[in-house]
Amino acid sequence: MAKYKIHPLEVARLGAPLGVLSMGGDMQTFIVAPVLIFYIEGGGKKIVMDAGIEAPGEQGVVHGFPVVGGGGEEGVRAALKSVGTTPEEIDYLVLSHLHFDHCAEAPLFKNARVIVQKKEWETAFHPVPTARQFYESSLFRNLEAMDLVLVEGEYEVTQGVSTLFLPGHSQGLQGLAVDTAVGTAVLTGDLCYSYYNLDPTRTELTDLAGTTVAVVPRPDLPFLPPAIFVNLVDWYDSMWKVVARASSRDLIIPGHDPSIVGKVFG
Ligand SMILES: [Zn+2]
Repeated sequence: MAKYKIHPLEVARLGAPLGVLSMGGDMQTFIVAPVLIFYIEGGGKKIVMDAGIEAPGEQGVVHGFPVVGGGGEEGVRAALKSVGTTPEEIDYLVLSHLHFDHCAEAPLFKNARVIVQKKEWETAFHPVPTARQFYESSLFRNLEAMDLVLVEGEYEVTQGVSTLFLPGHSQGLQGLAVDTAVGTAVLTGDLCYSYYNLDPTRTELTDLAGTTVAVVPRPDLPFLPPAIFVNLVDWYDSMWKVVARASSRDLIIPGHDPSIVGKVFG
């Protein structure tokens, strides 16, 4: 039975207010957070979760977020080169959801089977009003020309790697459960942006620029949601599902946490 290693790879850096990272956070304090793709190796098949963000234009802004490094095709190619591969060599591209910072460079993965939850696909074209700003149909409409597979709920991508349906942040978000040598790891996508969402007893957070900022601990809550969500009841249910599935909390991997850049899980 194959055991996989998971490489979180930075493809861009963006400025995000603490008030987006978590409900009730300060909207004036910005941290530098990574846009990540995740390379999963082992078992003879090459798997990537997520496909990056557009290159920033003249203003250095993508969908209202300042992109302070990387982005575009360059960002994805450089990230995969660091682990000795290319987008063309990837067998499976799993898109956690279709927000602008997760699907933009999908067409680079020309030879991949692309896996999206059916619910995410359907709702991406008609999101709830507060989520409209995160969906740009020109970024995902072209997936139809690829080997796109729409799945419902848990789906085995390959032996030891399965999608998990984790709605809450978006209506059809999926994570990935991955068998590693140290147990089952769960990639949460943006269900969790950072470890602070998973562990609200934390008091500070260090960003990619090396700046440490104070965050308000919330020991009264089991988990603290990001400020971007479509359904909080679903969100909490999905969080408990992740905790139940992962072999330990150390093997829960958030979607934008600065501290996981350069780490290898498994
Ligand atoms: Zn994101």
